[in-house]
Amino acid sequence: MLEILHHPPDGLLERDASRVHEVLEGPTLIHIAGRKRRPLYVSVLLHGNETTGWETVRALLKRHLGGELPRSLSLFIGNVKAAKENLRSLDGQPDYNRVWSGGHGPEYAMAARVIEEMRALDPVACIDVHNTSGTNPHHACVNLMDPAHLALASRFGHFVVFADKPPTVETRAFGEFCPAVVIECGMPDRPGGVEHALAYLEDALARDGLDQVHLHPGDIDLFHTAAVVEIPEEVSFGFGDGSDFDLLPDLDQLNFNELPAGTILGKVRPNSNARLRVTGSSDRDLYGRYFTVDEGRMVTAVPVMPALISTDARIVRQDCLCYLMERIRVPEDPP
Ligand SMILES: [Zn+2]
Repeated sequence: MLEILHHPPDGLLERDASRVHEVLEGPTLIHIAGRKRRPLYVSVLLHGNETTGWETVRALLKRHLGGELPRSLSLFIGNVKAAKENLRSLDGQPDYNRVWSGGHGPEYAMAARVIEEMRALDPVACIDVHNTSGTNPHHACVNLMDPAHLALASRFGHFVVFADKPPTVETRAFGEFCPAVVIECGMPDRPGGVEHALAYLEDALARDGLDQVHLHPGDIDLFHTAAVVEIPEEVSFGFGDGSDFDLLPDLDQLNFNELPAGTILGKVRPNSNARLRVTGSSDRDLYGRYFTVDEGRMVTAVPVMPALISTDARIVRQDCLCYLMERIRVPEDPP
């Protein structure tokens, strides 16, 4: 199901994410030659509703149209069909950022093919562009605690998240052979996302020695994902709509804030089964450690910093409610 091209087809750059399907049948890898041969790998639309990546590469390629990119670019355009519907993924499709460590089905084979193709081309780095479905500061995520990965991340901004779960993400697979980073550009269509990502990609294309960098511990605020918070299937919930588990409609305003114990997340109807599933690295349920119900309200039990809270109920069902973060020390760069 993967198509591999060597230049963008006619009309592609004129289309927004919802119309890419008119030109591309499905996931497509486009190798665009530039002055330096080793490519930068950039992926967009792994999640079909996260359109900042596509808008950014459109702008990038238009800007260099008629000239030459400073470095070759291998551009992967992921879930074209979900982008048509402005959805993260379609019902029945696997999540395109959960198919990169093997598995059965066409999407897994497609991802394996991309890895095989790119590994042979020895990319200088892998940058995967995403949006969040709630309000979050722009930040980068890495899956390996490696100075080259952290330094690549630090060029995007000072907030950096280290997440070693889930193991099936694209950047984890690419991390085996090049520095790899996810950039989270806030919500789609919010001002500043495309501009920030574009400046970042331009810098990455122009720069030599992306993998030889000095990381200054003061340059970044590094957090790691201590746990994933999900809402169990059997629990009915909503945002300010009077459900059994009625979360605050503006819950995403808590993202990247270090919250004191007792912070209210929402209301719980008496005798309802409302609870959260909180999974740490051991897969043990940590609900009781982080949350409690106090006079009909779900509150935090300990100081904690949530990130990537989504207030889109469909996305909460497909992915999760949020992650819980802990601040960690930035490793010293070896001399
Ligand atoms: Zn995403």
